[in-house]
Amino acid sequence: MSRTVGVLALQGAFAAHIAILRSIGADTVEVRTAEQLASVDGLVLPGGESTTMSMLLERFGLLEPLRSRIHDNQLPVFGTCAGMILLADEILDGRADQHCLKALPLSARRNGYGRQLASFETDIEVSGLDEPFHGIFIRAPIVERIGDAVEVLAEVDGQPVLCRHEGVTVASFHPELSGDSRLHRRWLIDAGLIEA
Ligand code: GLN
Repeated sequence: MSRTVGVLALQGAFAAHIAILRSIGADTVEVRTAEQLASVDGLVLPGGESTTMSMLLERFGLLEPLRSRIHDNQLPVFGTCAGMILLADEILDGRADQHCLKALPLSARRNGYGRQLASFETDIEVSGLDEPFHGIFIRAPIVERIGDAVEVLAEVDGQPVLCRHEGVTVASFHPELSGDSRLHRRWLIDAGLIEA
């Protein structure tokens, strides 16, 4: 049976995720409605602006369906940058009315690298990858707390930047912007959406 990968397409860097997923042969659709959400076997939450995405999730009637698919059906999800913030169970420096989906035990501080280091690029050693991954950080969140069960796959300056917890993978950077599909492929394999 063919498996469909959704990319939340309300706002932000969703087009680059779709391109990279299609380049590795994943059957990929944009998700903007509850019907589309119900039809996917995994979902990417892209970077962008987490406060805006939170508001649009509510407005498009996707917030509760997405919560229930993650918590009741263990929908595999891959959240990058703002997507990581949305999947956290605690948001620091968020807006008071900003929602989080509590997909994994992790606190994310918005724009945690401060003004000077707001955006930067660096090569990252990722556990399980032979060659470093080029990480592009754009007003990225900092991970300030993770639960014991969360696996840290990569760190920058001692801080986790890529974490995995069951079918949930989160990156504080933008893996879709490096022209490197290894992290998407790995999540798809973890999620059982493509063959290893
Ligand atoms: N700072 C943004 C937020 O709070 C995230 C930035 C990004 O996704 N590149 O949502």
